[in-house]
Amino acid sequence: VKPPPFSYHRARDGAHAVDLLSGLGPRARILAGGQSLLPMLHLRLAAPAHLVDIGRAADLGGIRLDGGRLVVGAAVTQAAVERSAEVRAVPLLAEAIAHVAHPPIRHRGTVVGSLAHASAVAELPCVAVALGAEFTLLATAAAPGELVAEVRFPVAGGRRGEAWSEFSVRRGNFPVAGAAAVVRLEGGTVTEAAVALCGVGDRPLRAPAAEDVLQGRTPTPELIAAAAEAAVAALAPRADGDTAAHILPVAAAPTPAWTYRARVARAQVRRALTRAVHRAEEQA
Ligand SMILES: Cc1cc2nc3c(=O)[nH]c(=O)nc-3n(C[C@H](O)[C@H](O)[C@H](O)COP(=O)(O)OP(=O)(O)OC[C@H]3O[C@@H](n4cnc5c(N)ncnc54)[C@H](O)[C@@H]3O)c2cc1C
Repeated sequence: VKPPPFSYHRARDGAHAVDLLSGLGPRARILAGGQSLLPMLHLRLAAPAHLVDIGRAADLGGIRLDGGRLVVGAAVTQAAVERSAEVRAVPLLAEAIAHVAHPPIRHRGTVVGSLAHASAVAELPCVAVALGAEFTLLATAAAPGELVAEVRFPVAGGRRGEAWSEFSVRRGNFPVAGAAAVVRLEGGTVTEAAVALCGVGDRPLRAPAAEDVLQGRTPTPELIAAAAEAAVAALAPRADGDTAAHILPVAAAPTPAWTYRARVARAQVRRALTRAVHRAEEQA
């Protein structure tokens, strides 16, 4: 299937991209790796008149550690982040990114593109929610036209453990459900906990009920099971019985029933928390 017609514009740098977006108007769209946008064009889910390609924008291609943050520019591919030495400073991102699609897609798809696309079942938006990632925007005051220039993930430190767990029907598929967990321990008790879920809502969701169960307590297997239960109990299915949104039409990717999805999510929270606690305990 061919995409609808569009004109193609290559941005030299971030400022040029914003100028192009402003000048071309509301029917212009940013093209990063194209791994979500091009399928949407082929499926006629989007029909932009102009694509502004930021893949070779000179100032958007960096990965660096800066003031306790891992900073990833908008043109950086998922594969480049996965292979970088810097990503080890954010273990949750390092673990989750290997589950995103397959290597050829990660070689084109960008981290920021995945966050901007914000699929409810994708790994990286869920990681960003769990870690409280920050975005740097580039915009002009003159006209609409805005791009995410970079994303900043907080770097792990101290007795903190992070873990990702997901279940997908096949490795590389979008998960049925996935969970991100971050746990900080002081003297054997939890002083900081973050739990986020994908696949169970119309966006990645923090699970404050699970975090409250853990806070200030010793993370025994029973407590972790109670936290996982609380995470899922707080979610309500939509009237049509399923809360998850997909980039693919439902007919092409039938969604499992809510009860099954919730059960899968609960298991992923338990696994992610168990590993995060174990990793926190291993820190000196
Ligand atoms: C077969 C297949 C399987 C996949 N499996 C998975 C999976 O298991 N898990 C997963 O997470 N993803 C999966 N993906 C999606 C993949 O990770 C995409 O690479 C990613 O979602 C989008 O990144 P991109 O760089 O390709 O963005 P694009 O497709 O180029 O853009 C996506 C959207 O974000 C906007 N955008 C891009 N960059 C910016 C920016 N800097 N500022 C503002 N807006 C921007 C675009 O305008 C567009 O609307 C899969 C894709 C395919 C084709």
